[in-house]
Amino acid sequence: MKESKIKETKKLKLIIILVLIFSISIITIGIIGIISSRYKKLEKENNEERSEVLEVNSQSEENNTIEVVVPAKKEITDWKLILVNKDNPLPQDYQIELSYIDRTRQFDKRAIGELNNMLKDMKARGVQNVWVQSAYRSVEYQQNLYDKSINKYLKQGKSIEEAEELTLEYLNKPRESEHNLGLAVDFNNVDEGFENTKAYEWLNKNAEDYGFILRYPEDKANITGIEYEPWHWRYVGKENAVQMNDLNMCLEEYIEYLEYGDFNI
Ligand SMILES: [Zn+2]
Repeated sequence: MKESKIKETKKLKLIIILVLIFSISIITIGIIGIISSRYKKLEKENNEERSEVLEVNSQSEENNTIEVVVPAKKEITDWKLILVNKDNPLPQDYQIELSYIDRTRQFDKRAIGELNNMLKDMKARGVQNVWVQSAYRSVEYQQNLYDKSINKYLKQGKSIEEAEELTLEYLNKPRESEHNLGLAVDFNNVDEGFENTKAYEWLNKNAEDYGFILRYPEDKANITGIEYEPWHWRYVGKENAVQMNDLNMCLEEYIEYLEYGDFNI
């Protein structure tokens, strides 16, 4: 009897120990489960953040590349720098206010003071043999000159293509001439002999102070599309004229320089 009681107590103890072990195991598994799910969540959040950072980086890299390929183009609003050539005809709605240089010749009202001062100072410095041969030309007048030239060559037996080619060697089409703009002036006999005159020498040194530039220099013919014209001078304003000469740029180059340069205008 006593022995069997001891056996029963032992059995009970064993059962209690087993239950305890079982409970501890369950609790341990539970704790491990909670910890691992927490850890997984944290890892997921980290990955998301990292991929956002990567996205931001790749976006900024993309922006940098775009900036290099397409630099911002600045709009030039200075009326003194209006470009007129065969690729940039005078706008149809271009308004111009003119003043008379003499009885027949006209120039842009805003720049005529500078032209007159330049001519006056040249003469005061002993350069007497200089005169304005051609200044502003209306689009209609330019058309008239152009048509006359074409007809002259056609009468000589040239084809229309030849007549156009020969005419364009010394005359622009209407709206493609700076003379339609009222800011260009031709001196004396409008020929290459002007290069050897005192007037040309004086202009080369001093015209920039009055805002005038030699518009078609010999070494820029491939850019301007016009052969050397020592007699043709263009008003661009003193500041621009001085800068263009310092940079050795013709108007086409200078405008591009201002449009894409990294400075304020
Ligand atoms: Zn001219």
